[in-house]
Amino acid sequence: MTVLPTLDSALSAHIRKVGIIGAGQMGNGIAQVFAQRGFAVALLDVSDEALQKGMGTIIKNLGRMESKGKISAADKDSALALITTSTAYADFADCDLVIEAASENENVKRAIFAQLCPVLKADAIIASNTSSLSITRLAASTDRPGRFVGMHFMNPVPVMQLVELIRGIATAEDTFAITKELVARLGKISVSAEDFPAFIVNRILLPMINEAVYTLYEGVGSVESIDTAMRLGANHPMGPLELADFIGLDTCLAVMHVLHEGLADTKYRPCPLLVKYVEAGWLGRKTGRGFYDYTGEKPVPTR
Ligand code: NAD
Repeated sequence: MTVLPTLDSALSAHIRKVGIIGAGQMGNGIAQVFAQRGFAVALLDVSDEALQKGMGTIIKNLGRMESKGKISAADKDSALALITTSTAYADFADCDLVIEAASENENVKRAIFAQLCPVLKADAIIASNTSSLSITRLAASTDRPGRFVGMHFMNPVPVMQLVELIRGIATAEDTFAITKELVARLGKISVSAEDFPAFIVNRILLPMINEAVYTLYEGVGSVESIDTAMRLGANHPMGPLELADFIGLDTCLAVMHVLHEGLADTKYRPCPLLVKYVEAGWLGRKTGRGFYDYTGEKPVPTR
């Protein structure tokens, strides 16, 4: 069991306000869990529409927890009152920690850090929630490689217990220790991973998902057969194609590209069918269609 450090003795006691960049499925979940633990949260995205969508998810999730009796109405209200939204980086000037959870694209993340660093306090920590990109390389694009760390939350953030912590080559020991303690303060468990493409979870999980797409592509089984086979045959809680839709097919493809390029091994070649789905804009649940169609009452397999 994780022992939560008391705030007085905590290395992370000075972390009071957390900035989160990207209000998508990961960013809004991260905002929710920090607010539920009493941290002030500033949530940023490129548009008011994206922010409203993210806040809508948080309100829905907290409402569901309230109706199940897991939290009180007062808990829900105080968590929501701690979250502010904005499209401007100026609101991050008093943040002690900023977690970047924007799209899995290195150029997007670099552009974000270029805007973020000039407004940030000198000792503020930057963490990236990247699923696969080099923490060392992302850190080198900032003005504070020692105060930069990988903090890889799992989806859905409010439910999943694990956070992978990744040290870049320049990450300072106290930066790592503070983030490790914060994970415990969120009531979650951390594992430490070295800075290799896709770290631990996705290094193992994504090649399996990619292989499931190849299995579909080669006609070995239908969407339903593949997912049923892995649920009942390997005891996985979700089939791999269902899981791919849940993660987002663009994120799955981005991770496969990082593995393929970073490890230079053909076994990580992204399946052409995965590429086609992403080209079509069929990104899974978030766009209403992936290996399943989500527009009706129940998901319907598309192949
Ligand atoms: P998503 O597509 O749901 O959300 C991404 C958000 O980033 C969108 O709201 C988008 O508007 C915003 N964004 C894009 N460019 C931006 C910019 N320049 N400034 C601010 N916001 C910007 O994606 P997601 O699934 O939430 O993934 C976000 C990150 O988390 C990625 O790095 C991904 O690899 C990682 N991640 C994803 C999962 C998963 O299962 N989906 C799990 C762990 C980590």
